[in-house]
Amino acid sequence: MGSIQMLCCPRDGTALVRGHTTHSDAFTDHGMLHCPTCTGILLNAEAATNSITEEKLKKMHQAFQTDCEKTDLDCPCCDSKMRVRQIVFKRINGTDLDPIELDGCPECNTFWFDSGELQRVVSPDDEPYEESDREASVLLMALELLILLPYKFV
Ligand SMILES: [Zn+2]
Ligand SMILES: [Zn+2]
Repeated sequence: MGSIQMLCCPRDGTALVRGHTTHSDAFTDHGMLHCPTCTGILLNAEAATNSITEEKLKKMHQAFQTDCEKTDLDCPCCDSKMRVRQIVFKRINGTDLDPIELDGCPECNTFWFDSGELQRVVSPDDEPYEESDREASVLLMALELLILLPYKFV
């Protein structure tokens, strides 16, 4: 905790923030930070205070330690080049959601969700949000639900 405060967005370099007061508990529980510019969301297992989330993120991390596609993104936490995988979450009723591209760091337990990827899952009909604040809240709540669901890498 603490050191995660000064991280920058791997896409556009904007300082990441812990979000709005209404969702600050969720941010802290799941070790989330969000980018006010592109509304992408960073997850970090060490920053998560929810032990279920922490365990889950550490498991997800293993999938990025093995060979997978490299990206040009620098990990905001340790400056390694991040890698990318397709992750599929399962709904409560057992059906699969559309695959999402997830960027993960091979060195530390850090993940990056592009807002466009989350948006595809949250609102497939692609209705634009009017305020970016609202969009960030919706994406955040979606991600909070997503990481509690079972998943597989494809
Ligand atoms: Zn950004
Ligand atoms: Zn890292």
